[in-house]
Amino acid sequence: MLTDCPACKKKISDKADECNHCGFKVSADDAESILRKKKLAQYMRHQSLQTQSFIAVLVFITGFGFMYWGFPEVGSTQHSIAMLVCVIGFVWYIINRVRILLTKRNKMFN
Ligand SMILES: [Zn+2]
Repeated sequence: MLTDCPACKKKISDKADECNHCGFKVSADDAESILRKKKLAQYMRHQSLQTQSFIAVLVFITGFGFMYWGFPEVGSTQHSIAMLVCVIGFVWYIINRVRILLTKRNKMFN
């Protein structure tokens, strides 16, 4: 039977003690591997938050750019959409910055 390595996601035997690709200890749920899993999860979370805040900035710039250089008529649907996109991007960015700050704070306690 083949299973996915929790660390590198490559196919490994479920009878193997550790991954022959990255050396991740699969069967042993010792303190070290739990800590490694936790650190990996934290890292993935941080990466995804950074990607999300990057997309949020792009969304904001798109809305902002359209509003200022697209010259939609104030009160028109295009203007409302541009403004909405702008607000969504801005709020999403702020939320992600706060979440990144919170994960950083959590790291200090761990
Ligand atoms: Zn692996």
